[in-house]
Amino acid sequence: MTKLTRRDFLRMSSVLGLSTALAPTLTACDAAGEGAFEGKVLIIGAGAAGMSAGYLLAQRGIDFEILEANSIYGGRFRVNKTFTDFPIPLGAEWLHVEPEMLDEIINDDSVEHNIELVGYTQDDVTGYYDDREYLTQPSGDSDLKFIGSSWFDFYETYVIPTIQEKIRTNIEIVEIDYSEGQVWLTDKNGGEYSAEKVIITIPLKILQDGDVEFTPALPQGKQDALDEAVVWSGFKAFFEFSEKFFPSALAFADSDTADGQRLLYDASHGQRSDRHILGVFSVGAQAEAYQAMSDEALKNSVLAELDEVFDGIASQTYVKHMTQNWNNEPYARAAYLEDNAPVWISREMAKSIEDKLYFAGASYTSFIDWSSVHTAARSAREAVDELVGQTGSLSFTAFLSILSAR
Ligand SMILES: Cc1cc2nc3c(=O)[nH]c(=O)nc-3n(C[C@H](O)[C@H](O)[C@H](O)COP(=O)(O)OP(=O)(O)OC[C@H]3O[C@@H](n4cnc5c(N)ncnc54)[C@H](O)[C@@H]3O)c2cc1C
Repeated sequence: MTKLTRRDFLRMSSVLGLSTALAPTLTACDAAGEGAFEGKVLIIGAGAAGMSAGYLLAQRGIDFEILEANSIYGGRFRVNKTFTDFPIPLGAEWLHVEPEMLDEIINDDSVEHNIELVGYTQDDVTGYYDDREYLTQPSGDSDLKFIGSSWFDFYETYVIPTIQEKIRTNIEIVEIDYSEGQVWLTDKNGGEYSAEKVIITIPLKILQDGDVEFTPALPQGKQDALDEAVVWSGFKAFFEFSEKFFPSALAFADSDTADGQRLLYDASHGQRSDRHILGVFSVGAQAEAYQAMSDEALKNSVLAELDEVFDGIASQTYVKHMTQNWNNEPYARAAYLEDNAPVWISREMAKSIEDKLYFAGASYTSFIDWSSVHTAARSAREAVDELVGQTGSLSFTAFLSILSAR
């Protein structure tokens, strides 16, 4: 088993002068080839991976249906459109790779999207507060934010119209039986569904908690991966202030640790809005610290921390706040696989079983990058390619050999 972790990889990449931009991109190939699969596919879950998988199957003319436990599609990229005058992403917020990723997801040269993205420039400031000292530097952030829209809006505009009638909501799958020719799924009300092949996009934490029974049991390698995976908790909050006193990003001594991360940031960055919204992003132990607080204690804690850095201005200009606790979402129950997980976990989780069960999702991938919307979309491509017998994506081994050859 390799001991390489994503952090190791990212460090190695920067030493080599590479970036995640090098990660293999999706190859555009879609028409079902000769001998292509012609049966029915069931997809469990309508998050980024499930919607992408359905969309790619639709492009190939393959019959499919998506069974979603929640009353709405989207999974971990839900949006609040009432807190302020632009969409607030409660889960996924940034695009962590090049903007061409959106075209890769659309995967259709005849479609031109009008999604606006904004990055960070040297004029944007990152602040760091530690030991009563506040330091600033120009932002080195390469992430992109959606202007006036979100990951959810992107999928709703460009993916959902193709697959909407194939999504069935309020269907929570609790049993997956692949012991015979067909795969049989059972939902929590006893409803049954069957297909030749099934793509599972249920979040890691739900499988880890044993909510879904597999017959026969999952192969030992996959069970080991599930047992060892550390899935970080997730919590976000958004604060409105009547003045803008905070930088693009504000980090503290505990902002990036082995157990989790947290960051305060300008959620209004690049928006056509005069509202001043500060986001609080946290995963892992840092999220759990916030989750343990009452709403009032959370508010006081964030304001006190900001008051200390900015001489009391936070309390004076506070307007309102809202929170999103991902551990309380019954069909997510966490944020995502920890950043520094060993690579073998997501690779093992991505492996198909008996040419019948395929896995797609942010943490089910052979790439050395996981836990983002783009990785969920790429994993869907991997699963669909494998399901229809095409190999459109570079394998992990091939990717490593590219790296070592440079
Ligand atoms: C706080 C937070 C911040 C984030 N920030 C970013 C970011 O800035 N950029 C980024 O790229 N990514 C970010 N992410 C990660 C990103 O949101 C996820 O990686 C991605 O959305 C996961 O997509 P998915 O399809 O794998 O899983 P999900 O979106 O979780 O989809 C799984 C679907 O399966 C459904 N489901 C679950 N159980 C069952 C069942 N038993 N039966 C049927 N359906 C079921 C769920 O309801 C859900 O719709 C963030 C996540 C969090 C929590």
